[in-house]
Amino acid sequence: MSKSRDRELGMFRSITRRDFLNGVAIGVGAVAATDLLPAVAWGESDLAAQDKPGYYPPALTGMRGSHPGSFEDAHKLRDGTFWKSAGKPSDTAESYDLIVVGGGISGLAAAHFWRAKRPDARILILDNHDDFGGHAKRNEFHTGGRASGRMLLCNGGTWAIESPVPYSKVARGLMDELGIKPADLAAKCNIRGLYKGLTDGIFLDKETFGADFLIKGTPSGMFPGDTESQSTSNLDGSPLAPEVRKDILHLESTSEDFLPGLTSDEKKDRLTRVSYKDFLLKNVKVDPRVVPIYQTRTHSLFGVGIDAVNALDCWALGFPGFKGLKLAPGPHKRMGYTAPLGFASAREDYEFHFPDGNATIARLLVRRLIPASTPGGTVADIVTTRVDYSQLDKKDSPVRLRLSCIVVGAKHLGDPSSAKEVQVAYLRGGKVYTARAKSTILACWNMMIPYLCPELPDKQKEALHYGVKVPLVYTNVQIKNRKAFEKLGLRSVSSPGMYHSQLGLDVPVDIGDYHFPRSPEEPVVVRMERTPCMPGMSERDQHRVGRADLLSTPFETFERNIRDQLGRVLGPGGFDPARDIEAITVNRWPHGYAYEYNYLFDPEWPAGQSPVEIARKPFGRIAIANSDAAAAAYTDTAIDQAYRAVEELLTV
Ligand SMILES: Cc1cc2nc3c(=O)[nH]c(=O)nc-3n(C[C@H](O)[C@H](O)[C@H](O)COP(=O)(O)OP(=O)(O)OC[C@H]3O[C@@H](n4cnc5c(N)ncnc54)[C@H](O)[C@@H]3O)c2cc1C
Repeated sequence: MSKSRDRELGMFRSITRRDFLNGVAIGVGAVAATDLLPAVAWGESDLAAQDKPGYYPPALTGMRGSHPGSFEDAHKLRDGTFWKSAGKPSDTAESYDLIVVGGGISGLAAAHFWRAKRPDARILILDNHDDFGGHAKRNEFHTGGRASGRMLLCNGGTWAIESPVPYSKVARGLMDELGIKPADLAAKCNIRGLYKGLTDGIFLDKETFGADFLIKGTPSGMFPGDTESQSTSNLDGSPLAPEVRKDILHLESTSEDFLPGLTSDEKKDRLTRVSYKDFLLKNVKVDPRVVPIYQTRTHSLFGVGIDAVNALDCWALGFPGFKGLKLAPGPHKRMGYTAPLGFASAREDYEFHFPDGNATIARLLVRRLIPASTPGGTVADIVTTRVDYSQLDKKDSPVRLRLSCIVVGAKHLGDPSSAKEVQVAYLRGGKVYTARAKSTILACWNMMIPYLCPELPDKQKEALHYGVKVPLVYTNVQIKNRKAFEKLGLRSVSSPGMYHSQLGLDVPVDIGDYHFPRSPEEPVVVRMERTPCMPGMSERDQHRVGRADLLSTPFETFERNIRDQLGRVLGPGGFDPARDIEAITVNRWPHGYAYEYNYLFDPEWPAGQSPVEIARKPFGRIAIANSDAAAAAYTDTAIDQAYRAVEELLTV
């Protein structure tokens, strides 16, 4: 994107974003500098950053998610250069019952399950990020500084309690123990009617479609359940050619059977073997220029476009074109769903979004594990509770959580079949340390594990490498008010050709002392999603390309595109990016969702032979947790895998 409009876009205004450009403090924005102590500040004294007064990563803005400083050494380990420059490890002389690698929901749940069975156990949890929670990350915004201003919350990753399959007894049991009752919370906390009169929209950008144009209300029900948009007039005046408009409207309303002569089962089988894009082109026979309108509609859930998502999944999500096929409700064996349509029946109302997403689950687990860190006692009060990070790694605490520590090795002390201990090596502040444990759970990302445990069997290492995590970005932008959304009558906008393919207002929730901004005049956070990929390649290759894109893109490029996009989409409603943007947080996840098998590209393995089943086998005193171990990117699977790993080790 050209820099010529930088001044107009407000690239050089002082807001709370570039203050932590790429993780390094370079200036002071609207929030007092003391509110946002640098996350990475080791080496200045013996005190670790997390132990210093004021350390509070949720309030950091700028580049978050996989933030600078959290991953570079992992890449050196991958490239085989790490140990050449690493100094001699220092032995901490610490010895634990269990060391958990990874402080996401899976790692925290593993520690919880272990303590439930062994209440006296001493546990160390290590995570490479400056905050705990893994993908379940909390973003705080403070209007006018933390001391006096108002706090706005948003999720930096894991958004909601949901799953395409019902929560298992174990996962549900943990939620019950933590006091989380999704249906009750939804009934009590969801604010209904706040966005009354607002609808979804599609923004066509001039670079892709020839002219900037907002399709308000969407062309005849492009979003499932959208009853306000059955009018056909909203495509009038768009830059789309008449034949493209005609095909879209036909697709959206048709009752034609595009797979005549087949039974419902045969049709479903066929639809799992064809992409939605091919279904549109070859069965519905739409004009190829229709495809770009729908291309990114699968991005949020799958991280790739309709060229790489099978048509049956799109049927399950309520995409158009299937009405006349009269498919029987219910899943197919090659689908990840158990629901007949969308997630509806699988979730059994088991769905709720905390204002900071599932970071609340991570924080509740930390409260259980290290009570001194997180005062209070209810699900409602934790939302506004400030975690005291200096309590997380106390010598006398039975559970310790050590941040900004990237684990670089986990090795049995002796033969894995008979060893009594595992030595774990981690890097912190440029120095390698070791600690020991009787057992180790690797609740980190699968592809990292072969580098930590070179002693694993080759077949297992190969299997661990199979999945390629989905790269994605959740950008959160604090704006002065949401008046432009109100004026345009919009709540969310998909923009298939733009840098972020989705933007919109969050689900409004009041919980405890946290109150979602009620008035359109109040500051609010806009959520945006970006999922870089490369249509036409296999899903795993698309993720590799997307990851490289994310890792090579500086914050400045994100910021310029954010400003441009918000300005163009919301500008007609009076939004001025130079004036109205107050803070930006880019949650970059080059290794995001766990890879889920995609039978457009992956083979169907015999039972017990899928990569994930081989990958998660225990090895001596080491077991493997994390949602990667289930090939399913959900909180319940992260919990289930933690439980399995704990059980495996406790039966050794
Ligand atoms: C943007 C985004 C949105 C999502 N939204 C949802 C949602 O709405 N609902 C849902 O159910 N799921 C969602 N997910 C899926 C999410 O991944 C899971 O729900 C769950 O949070 C995964 O937990 P985990 O502990 O298995 O993995 P993670 O959260 O990834 O935690 C693993 C941790 O291990 C760390 N680690 C890796 N290697 C090392 C090492 N060598 N040393 C130390 N630490 C290491 C990682 O950095 C990470 O912090 C989302 C994911 C993303 C990325």
